[in-house]
Amino acid sequence: MNYPVEELLAIKPDLPMEDQALIRLAFDYGSKAHVEQKRNSGEPYFSHVFETAKILAQMNADAVTISAGLLHDVLEDTETTDEELRGVFGNEIVTLVEGVTKLGHLKYKGVARHAESLRKFFIASAHDIRVVAIKLADRLHNVSTLEHVPAEKQRRIALETLEIYARLADRLGMGKIKAQLEDGAFPFAYPEEHKKTKQVLDAFTTSGEEHLTKVAETLGEELRILDANITSLNYRTKHAYSLWNKLKVFDYDQTKIFDIYALRVLVPTIGDCYQALGIIHGLYKPVPGKFKDYIAVPKPNGYQSLHTAIFDGQGSVMEVQIRTEEMHKEAEYGIYSHVGYKEGGRTASGSNNPNPNKKISWTQELLEAQRHIENPEDFLKHLKLDFFKEKVFVYTPKGDVIELPKGASVIDFAYAIHSDIGNHIFGAKINGKMIPLETQVSQGDIVEILRTDKSKPSRKWLDLCKTTLAKQHIRKYLNEHGQ
Ligand code: MN
Repeated sequence: MNYPVEELLAIKPDLPMEDQALIRLAFDYGSKAHVEQKRNSGEPYFSHVFETAKILAQMNADAVTISAGLLHDVLEDTETTDEELRGVFGNEIVTLVEGVTKLGHLKYKGVARHAESLRKFFIASAHDIRVVAIKLADRLHNVSTLEHVPAEKQRRIALETLEIYARLADRLGMGKIKAQLEDGAFPFAYPEEHKKTKQVLDAFTTSGEEHLTKVAETLGEELRILDANITSLNYRTKHAYSLWNKLKVFDYDQTKIFDIYALRVLVPTIGDCYQALGIIHGLYKPVPGKFKDYIAVPKPNGYQSLHTAIFDGQGSVMEVQIRTEEMHKEAEYGIYSHVGYKEGGRTASGSNNPNPNKKISWTQELLEAQRHIENPEDFLKHLKLDFFKEKVFVYTPKGDVIELPKGASVIDFAYAIHSDIGNHIFGAKINGKMIPLETQVSQGDIVEILRTDKSKPSRKWLDLCKTTLAKQHIRKYLNEHGQ
């Protein structure tokens, strides 16, 4: 077998024996279940679930999640039944695998307007944050093998990866996964733009690396002389998709972009961050307006770091990022970086909400939950994804997801699509069956509105709908038509 289980176990060498045994069992079960199948690339299908499990292990997932990763396609793609799987692995793993299977049916049709609803629907359908982790790992491997997928599917999958999966990874603070998803999808979603961006990046690599090494060496030496407490100093290159987003803003004028490379200084404590910053600003003139304190005021997804830009003494401007190792880990794997932290607690971030009047988004709620972790081992398991319990998500016949409050009717649905459709409803179907207009929609319904110019809103409709949007449109129509 080309995919030795040892390679997977080696990523998490400290796992207890019983956890290793569980992973070995899932490994054997998965490799047997998929034995007949091949990927588009010609590789055994098992290579896909194996790589998915490896990504999960790198994300520091627990043994149950890694095992579910090894089994994530057996219900969808093999003859294995729920009962068989439950008999061997128990409820917890089967629930995770079922969750992943269900999420596989959500599809992005390329309408940016509805993308946020689809992202929310994704989280609401996942129920368990570990299901989201498996789905992200699954997609990351799929997108890295996209060249083997039939051409007509490539672009749809690439756009879905950018609009749904990468954005969710970002919300969860998983910078590393987000960057990998984006760079995997980028050449298939926007081939021309990708080519242009690669050229800029390659040009910088040839001219920039020597310069960068020089600046890093000098700075490192000076920090050492001044006894700054630093763990490591290296640099990172902006990933292609993120560079493209910036190039667009500056109309491809790369001289306006200072952070294609950034020096990255890792230090042990928060105090060391500010000390290192003070030393660096003392040695090199900072560029005015470029300093950002994401430690005192984290980004909405929880990202923490000090960012500054300095005149580097070699004739150019250099971005410098300073953070603790813990912050760095969080910047890569976000919410999942806590698993396996035995001492527990999120020590890095303050719990002050910098903007108390702002409406709290689901991402912030998630972050807030992380700040009160008492038992990090069980945190992800018990974290409830019920931010959207007051909402229903329904489909248009084309497969777009529309988000409505619980109790909304098909009239609300029609107005959520367009006021003109709302104003001319003549009938509606739910899941293919004609239904009365006052019918409330339920989770996952496919709703189709039949319209005709002759139909118009009546006063009675005001009682049959729930959203302000629908009521406003109906009142406006009634006023304008003297009713
Ligand atoms: Mn899969």
